Amino acid sequence: MYFSKAFIPTLKEAPSDLDNISAKLMARAGMTRKLGSGLFELLPLGLKTLKNVIEIIREEMESVDGQEVRLPLLLPKDLWIETGRWNVYGKELFRLKDRKDADFCLAPTHEEAITDLVRNNVSSYRQLPVMLYQFGIKFRDEIRPRFGVMRAREFLMKDAYSFHTDEADLEKYYKRVYEAYERICKRCGLKYRVVEAASGAIGGNFSHEFMILADTGEEEIAWCNCGYGANSEKAECLQSEKVDLSPMLETEEVLTPDIGSVEDVAKFLSSSEEKFIKTMIYVADGNPVAVLVRGDHDVNEIKLQTLIGCNELELAAPEIIQEVTGAKVGFAGPANLKKKIKIYADFSVPNIANAVTGANKDDKHIKNVNYGRDYKADVVADLKKVSKGDMCPRCQKEKLQFSRGIEIGHVFKLGTKYSKSMKATYLDDQGKENLMVMGCYGIGVTRILAAAIEQSYDENGIIWPVNLAPYKISIIPVDFKNNAIKEAAEKIYKELKTNKIDVLLDDRDERVGIKFKDADLIGIPFRITIGEKSLKDGNVEFKARTDDKSKSEFIKVENIVEYIKTKL
Ligand code: ATP
Ligand code: MG
Repeated sequence: MYFSKAFIPTLKEAPSDLDNISAKLMARAGMTRKLGSGLFELLPLGLKTLKNVIEIIREEMESVDGQEVRLPLLLPKDLWIETGRWNVYGKELFRLKDRKDADFCLAPTHEEAITDLVRNNVSSYRQLPVMLYQFGIKFRDEIRPRFGVMRAREFLMKDAYSFHTDEADLEKYYKRVYEAYERICKRCGLKYRVVEAASGAIGGNFSHEFMILADTGEEEIAWCNCGYGANSEKAECLQSEKVDLSPMLETEEVLTPDIGSVEDVAKFLSSSEEKFIKTMIYVADGNPVAVLVRGDHDVNEIKLQTLIGCNELELAAPEIIQEVTGAKVGFAGPANLKKKIKIYADFSVPNIANAVTGANKDDKHIKNVNYGRDYKADVVADLKKVSKGDMCPRCQKEKLQFSRGIEIGHVFKLGTKYSKSMKATYLDDQGKENLMVMGCYGIGVTRILAAAIEQSYDENGIIWPVNLAPYKISIIPVDFKNNAIKEAAEKIYKELKTNKIDVLLDDRDERVGIKFKDADLIGIPFRITIGEKSLKDGNVEFKARTDDKSKSEFIKVENIVEYIKTKL
C-alpha cells in the first residue's frame, strides 16, 4: 500500500473520551473511531490487523477439527425461554420486538442457537463428536462500557461449541482446544497465563480463562510456578497449620476512644494486626451475619456468598450494626454480641491465641479473647482473600505471585446444561437415547487487539508482535521526488509484494521525521529508510521498531528482501 492512497487518519492527540492506552493508541494510529458508548468503527488498518488475528484463530480451530458456521445475530425469544436465560440474563441482553410484536434479542452468545441447530440435525452417535465455530458479532449492554474495544457493547467473538457422546470424550477434546488456545496466544505474540475460573451465567461445571498479562488489566491473578493459576477473587487459600499454643490469659477490656480501625487500634495498643479478629457484619438475603477474619486479612465476598448460598450480600448499615452488636461501627467482636446471629470464621481465626477484638461496647476493645472459651463460630471455612505472602494452595511449596491480566479467552465444560433443557439427544449403538455432552470455547477477537497493545507499546506508539502487525515493513524514502530514491523504493516494494510481505511505502510529500513518527505510532515492526547518501553506496538503512536509532544496519539494496525474510 502507498501511504498517500491509504485511509490512515493518524492523530497527534487522542480524543479525550478514550480511557486507556490501547484505546488512545488505536485512535491515534488511525485504526478505530468511536461512534458512541461502547461502539467502535474499525478503519482499514484496524480491520487489517484484526484479520491477522482471525486467520491465526481460524487455523487453530481447523486444527482441532472445527468447522466454521455463521449464525443469526437476531435470535427469537422462544429459544431463550427453553433454557430459562430470557429471564436470568438481565439488563446485559439487548431485547427488541419485530413488527408482529414478537420478542427477540441481539445475540450476546450462541449456546441456544447452536444447540437448536445440532439437536435438529444430529441424531446418532455416528455423527458425534462435532465442533462448530464462528466469528460473530456479539451484543452486550455492559453496565460500564470502557477501555475502547476491550469492553464494548458490540464486539467480535470467536465462539465454538463441541458436542460429544459422553464426559470422557468431552474431557479429551477440551484438552485439545485448551492446547489450541495456548498456540493462539503464542502465535499472537502474547504473554499469558491460564487460570481456573467459576463459570458465571453461562454455567457448566468447569472452566479456564486465558489471561494476557498487562499492568493495566482489569483482573488480578494469583499464580505459581507449579502451574496453578486463579483469579485472585476466586483463589483458594491454604488452611494455616500455625496454631498459637500460648496459655490463655484473662480477658481484659481496654478503652480505645474513637479508635475503630484495626490499624489504629493495633498502634494504640502496641500490638500487631495479626493478633486481631476483624469482625464484619454483613446482611445476607436480609439476615445479618458476622464474619471473622484475621486483622491483616480481608473478607472474600465471593467465597462468603458461595458458602452462605445467598443471592444478595452487602455490608450492614450502621443502624443494623448498632442493633446487632450494641455498639457503634468499629467495635464489633464475636464475644457477647447483643443479638444472636450466625458467625462465620475464616480458618485462621480460631488459631489466634489471646486475640484483640471489639467489645461490642462503644469505644472499647477486649484483649485475650480465645476460641472455644470466649466465642465460637457456627462455620469455620476458607473466607479470606489471598494476599501477598500466601503459599500456593496446589504445590504448597512456593509463595503465590500476583499479576494483573486481561481475559481474552474462556473455555468451558458445559456438560448437559443446555442439552438437558433443550432436549438435544442422540441414539447410542444400543438404540438408547442419551443427552449430548457439550463444551464451549470463546475468544474476544477485538479484545485481543487492545490487549496486545496494552502489553506492547512505548512513548512513540504501538509495537505490534510481527504476526499481528498490519504491515510488517515500512519503506521510508527520505525524498520521494528524488528519482534514484523513488526507483529503489519501488523496486524493494515490488519485491516484497511478490514475496507476499505486507508493506507500506510512505510516498507522502512529508518531512522524514513525520514519516518516522507515523510508522512508529502504527507499530510497524521493521523500517527501511532510503536516503541519498547511503544509496550512493548501494545501501538502505534497516531498523527494527524495538531497536534504538544507533542500532540500525546498512544493507545492500539487492539483499534487503532476503534479509527481511530472515527477520520475519
Ligand atoms: P468479562 O468477565 O470480561 O465480562 P465474560 O466472562 O463476560 O468476560 P465470555 O462470555 O466468556 O466473557 O466471552 C468470551 C470472551 O469474549 C471473553 O473472554 C472476552 O475476551 C470477550 N468479551 C466479553 N465481553 C466483552 C466485551 N464487552 N467487549 C469485548 N470483548 C468481550
Ligand atoms: Mg461479561
